[in-house]
Amino acid sequence: MGLLALVLGVVAALLAVALWRERRELGRLRDWAAQPRLSDPPEGEGVWGEVFDHLHRHRRANLRRRRRLAELIVRQRRAAQALPYGVAMLEAGLRLDWCNRAAADHLGLDPERDRGQPIANFVREPAFVKYLDAGDFSQPVRIVRGSERTLALQLVPFGQDEHLLLSQDVTGAERLEAMRRDFVANVSHELRTPLTVLSGFLETIRDLKLDADRVRDYVALMAPQAERMKRLIEDLLTLSALEHSPPPPAEERIVVRPLLERMRAEAEALSGGRHRITLSVEGAHDLAGAESEIASAFLNLVSNAVRYTPEGGEVRLVWRSGEEGAEFTVEDTGIGIAPEHIPRLTERFYRVDRGRSRETGGTGLGLAIVKHALARHDATLAIESTPGKGSRFSARFPAARLLPVEPDPVAPEGRARAAGR
Ligand code: ADP
Repeated sequence: MGLLALVLGVVAALLAVALWRERRELGRLRDWAAQPRLSDPPEGEGVWGEVFDHLHRHRRANLRRRRRLAELIVRQRRAAQALPYGVAMLEAGLRLDWCNRAAADHLGLDPERDRGQPIANFVREPAFVKYLDAGDFSQPVRIVRGSERTLALQLVPFGQDEHLLLSQDVTGAERLEAMRRDFVANVSHELRTPLTVLSGFLETIRDLKLDADRVRDYVALMAPQAERMKRLIEDLLTLSALEHSPPPPAEERIVVRPLLERMRAEAEALSGGRHRITLSVEGAHDLAGAESEIASAFLNLVSNAVRYTPEGGEVRLVWRSGEEGAEFTVEDTGIGIAPEHIPRLTERFYRVDRGRSRETGGTGLGLAIVKHALARHDATLAIESTPGKGSRFSARFPAARLLPVEPDPVAPEGRARAAGR
């Protein structure tokens, strides 16, 4: 009996020790697992050591996976931020979950403040409301924000009842499209008018028995209409070439002096002695670029000055060049232009007085050609004008487009060099 009690006592003591150890290891496990940061596992005894190691490996792998996922999310959000399009993620009920900067800008969203709000609270334009109601998101919908911004919006369903809302600012494209439509309408109109006159005369000549003198009179009336169509087509081709040809060479020399002399001669020819025309040249620089383009720009300015200056007026051509750049100015004492028209003069087919432009052989494309040709040479057009007094059109070139004038080969020094002496 005594022996049995002793054995039971020893067994109980051993069990108590074993239990105490297990509790101690469990306590360590709890303390370790409760640490917010992953640390080395405690030294465990026996099988506990293995348990700690296994758990540590799992926790480490888990942590690595979580870090990778977090990095992936950050990278994907960065990529979405970098997109030139707006992207908004919408959860069930089309509520905002997240959006990139472009979408915030397009739709006036604050990604933090507006989270969880239905997108319809921010995009209230009727076209978008209709788009949501119709539920067909295969095409984008266009909305006009404020008065001048056009956005294309498209919903893309994904996951479970989630959507991406893509937005794109199409204001520029829309404006271009409107310009293209206007341009086609204008060209058609400009061509149709002389063509109608021409075909009227042709019908008359065909249907009526006219004597030779009469026919000659009619042909004389037809010729200016054909001429007008020809000029229009030439100007259209010039504009198209300016738009589509490669940039003008930066190293090709345009010898300015003879070009200016030619402009004066052209002005004299156009004027037919009705105006006083002067040319003044200050500075010793040539231009770098495409001569035909600069000649076309200068000629348009000169021709306008003559055409919009009544008989007896004056047209002054002035070239000035220096270290800071060069300027070709065409100044006239003509009819002038009211200030409200000035910003629009370089638009295609914009004319202050359509009738007067036509009478003098204008196409309405001259200043558009000037603007394009100058822009291709990094130059700008400045316009000053006073109605009834006259106008000043200045083509301004930066110093980078200037080349110092080369010595004249017919000057004594040049001639000596040319003769090899
Ligand atoms: P257009 O062929 O009609 O002359 P442009 O593009 O050359 O077309 O010029 C646009 C408009 O600008 C002209 O129709 C005219 O109303 C105005 N304009 C241009 N140059 C002058 C000028 N020197 N004096 C007065 N008006 C001018």
